[in-house]
Amino acid sequence: MVDFRRLEDTAVTNKRVLVRVDFNVPCDDSGNVSDNTRLVAALPTINYLRKNKAIIILISHFGRPGGQREPSASMMKLVGPLSELLKTDVAFAPDCVGEIADKAVANVKQGDVLLLENTRFHKGESHTADGAKGYDPDFAKALAAHGEVFIHDAFSVAHRAQGSTSGIAANLPAYAGLAMERELDHLSQALDVPRRPVMGLVGGAKVSSKIDLLKNLVCRLDTLAIGGGMANTFLAALGHKVGASLCEHDLKDTALEILANAKQAKCEVLLPIDVVASKEFKAGAEHRVCGLDAVADNEMILDAGPATVDKLADAIDASKTLIWNGPLGAFELVPFDTATVEAAKYAAKCAQNNGLIAVAGGGDTVAALRHAGAADGFTFISTAGGAFLEWMEGKALPGIEILKKK
Ligand code: AMP
Repeated sequence: MVDFRRLEDTAVTNKRVLVRVDFNVPCDDSGNVSDNTRLVAALPTINYLRKNKAIIILISHFGRPGGQREPSASMMKLVGPLSELLKTDVAFAPDCVGEIADKAVANVKQGDVLLLENTRFHKGESHTADGAKGYDPDFAKALAAHGEVFIHDAFSVAHRAQGSTSGIAANLPAYAGLAMERELDHLSQALDVPRRPVMGLVGGAKVSSKIDLLKNLVCRLDTLAIGGGMANTFLAALGHKVGASLCEHDLKDTALEILANAKQAKCEVLLPIDVVASKEFKAGAEHRVCGLDAVADNEMILDAGPATVDKLADAIDASKTLIWNGPLGAFELVPFDTATVEAAKYAAKCAQNNGLIAVAGGGDTVAALRHAGAADGFTFISTAGGAFLEWMEGKALPGIEILKKK
């Protein structure tokens, strides 16, 4: 279990508390917030700090302005929605460092909230003074000077060491916020100290983007189910015909190596035993369910078949913990969403009724589980993309390292 410093471990009353949130929210064409999930995720920490009469200073990145002041990437548009959610006026400073920011910080009163402008308006957030990747320590010092305590509450950027994360932690005592804490507790429970048997379900397009993840998982799991386009590479490596399917033929040796690692680690690997094949990659395309060796040269495997879904359900039944990343088929194209939808619904049912700990995250996973109507049934869904994947790869995440108790 990750042992890290938590918000409750530090006194915050009348202290200037600098909180790194993730307010990189999706916006519509007019620049209005179209999904406020990330704002809502920050509320518990902000409300805790308000209740405890801290002086609250929020910082975040938004978009990729690349060190330039880009009006469309201003945090200003979040002031209204955030004020509404918090039921109090949120103040705004049109810069995150320098005189304007310093003055705004000096004016915040106990229990009040100030939002600073986008950290990525400054190159120092993600580049050194020489332009190399990293951060500029002087920029980080200027940010850190706003606070007496640093709360990191943005797990989604935990895989990056930037000025507004590791840079501040180099200058101030750092603690996990309540959203970060929830994330770390759930992920740690699922992979570091899981209730066994623990099963992974990994799907998605390509093996190439998930080699490290698969290599790490086979050493830690009791069962690993592989689905989606990436399963085709495994099937091809085992000598099955995959026709015109998405398949990385150059990675067949890697696939065999992963299977050999799994065998050595006594992790059972489940691959599709039947598939849904079609000649066209489009919604509503004509399709058929067939056995592994019946895929024609001009057909693509676009989903797992019903016998595979039954087998996955049995494996989920036999597990106490499930970690899910990636869809089992081309889920955006109905009816090739069937295996993903059925397996997700089954996992959600087991989580609700049988005490299964079901954790999911990364990239398209949240969209796939929402599409299945199963997201609310899962024990925990991480909305982080890259950070979730790097955590599944077993990597040390800089944003978590800074919070660990020495
Ligand atoms: P990833 O970002 O690696 O999790 O991949 C997600 C994407 O994989 C989705 O857009 C799916 O449509 C796609 N995908 C899953 N299975 C297949 C398949 N059998 N053939 C083609 N694309 C697939």
